[in-house]
Amino acid sequence: MPAETRLFRCLSDNFGVLLHDPATGATASIDAPEAAPVEAALKETGWTLTDILVTHHHHDHTGGIAALKQKYGCRVVAPAGEAAKIPSVDETVREGDTVKVGKLSAGVIETPGHTLGHIAYWFHADKIVFAGDTLFSIGCGRVIEGTPAQMWTSLKKLRDLPDDTAIYCGHEYTLANIKFALTVEPDNSVLSAREAEARRQIETGRPTIPTTIGDEKLANPFLRADRADVAAGIGMAGKPAVEVFTEIRARKNKF
Ligand SMILES: [Zn+2]
Repeated sequence: MPAETRLFRCLSDNFGVLLHDPATGATASIDAPEAAPVEAALKETGWTLTDILVTHHHHDHTGGIAALKQKYGCRVVAPAGEAAKIPSVDETVREGDTVKVGKLSAGVIETPGHTLGHIAYWFHADKIVFAGDTLFSIGCGRVIEGTPAQMWTSLKKLRDLPDDTAIYCGHEYTLANIKFALTVEPDNSVLSAREAEARRQIETGRPTIPTTIGDEKLANPFLRADRADVAAGIGMAGKPAVEVFTEIRARKNKF
């Protein structure tokens, strides 16, 4: 049976998301920014929390773990590289490990850059990736602990997933990301269309995610740093992709 998801807002601009296996009743919270919105989503759906899958150690992704663990006794799965900074961890995982939520199955993809131990969970049969703060809709996370080269490599790993993979990310940053992306590729018509769509979604109180790998490849400047036209557009024709990526990321930091 295919996975079901429930997306909701947490804190000021975080997304919370539940993943549910209808066959077994297992339900995972992907990260836990704060407990109350996760509990509200569980109440609305009638699902029972069995697992928390953590992408990275930042407090706005882990602040709700301890309270949820205490209430539901759920299993907490976290990246091996950051487990010491995450509360109540039961299991640690690395690149290539498999994580089960009931009968649903995810591969672990290490995506260092935003933090050094950051991971994504790819539910391949369900065509869903939970990308945390690595890949956003039309953006990517700040490179806080790693290097731009690490982040570029991590983003390419996600870009290699099938085009019809749905991407759930940690924050609602889409409109601001599009504004910036248009400074890199002002003539990208896909980007203008995404802007109109995102405006409609936000005006009607809807989230702008999930997006898909295929859609991001057409419009996300951080996945397009190895394109000759993108390099030329920012005055870096012929430069290596990692340098182009580094420059785009630096410009975004100042935007
Ligand atoms: Zn973060």
